Amino acid sequence: MLADMATQIEAGRALCLSAARLRDAGLPFAKQAAMAKLHCTDTAMRVTTDAVQILGGYGYTADFPAERYMREAKVLQIVEGTNQIQRMVIARHLAGPEER
Ligand SMILES: Cc1cc2nc3c(=O)[nH]c(=O)nc-3n(C[C@H](O)[C@H](O)[C@H](O)COP(=O)(O)OP(=O)(O)OC[C@H]3O[C@@H](n4cnc5c(N)ncnc54)[C@H](O)[C@@H]3O)c2cc1C
Repeated sequence: MLADMATQIEAGRALCLSAARLRDAGLPFAKQAAMAKLHCTDTAMRVTTDAVQILGGYGYTADFPAERYMREAKVLQIVEGTNQIQRMVIARHLAGPEER
């Protein structure tokens, strides 16, 4: 589980940097930005849920920060354009007249 968590986080970093590089170069970046937001926030949800699982009772109790990270990850899937809407943005780029 820890290996999967670390791998998904690293992939998210690469997606973020890819979108930022396009933006810095003045190139279209909307699709990559949507992919980065979608992947990183879904990863945050998965990773924090797994963290609660790994820590057992200590993960679930409010005495330790893991459960708060899990709640905070949930709202990141909703704010700044919900992840359903990010998927629509990505799909429109893929199905558009030309991929931008
Ligand atoms: C704590 C919090 C802070 C926020 N802060 C900000 C902020 O600072 N600035 C800001 O602009 N917005 C902010 N928002 C709004 C947020 O970005 C979402 O836009 C908003 O929550 C979605 O609108 P709604 O809640 O009315 O849900 P609805 O629009 O009713 O959507 C409900 C669900 O249906 C899904 N959905 C809707 N249409 C489709 C579709 N066509 N296909 C598939 N799924 C669909 C949505 O993704 C969502 O999961 C915040 C929201 C929350 C909860």
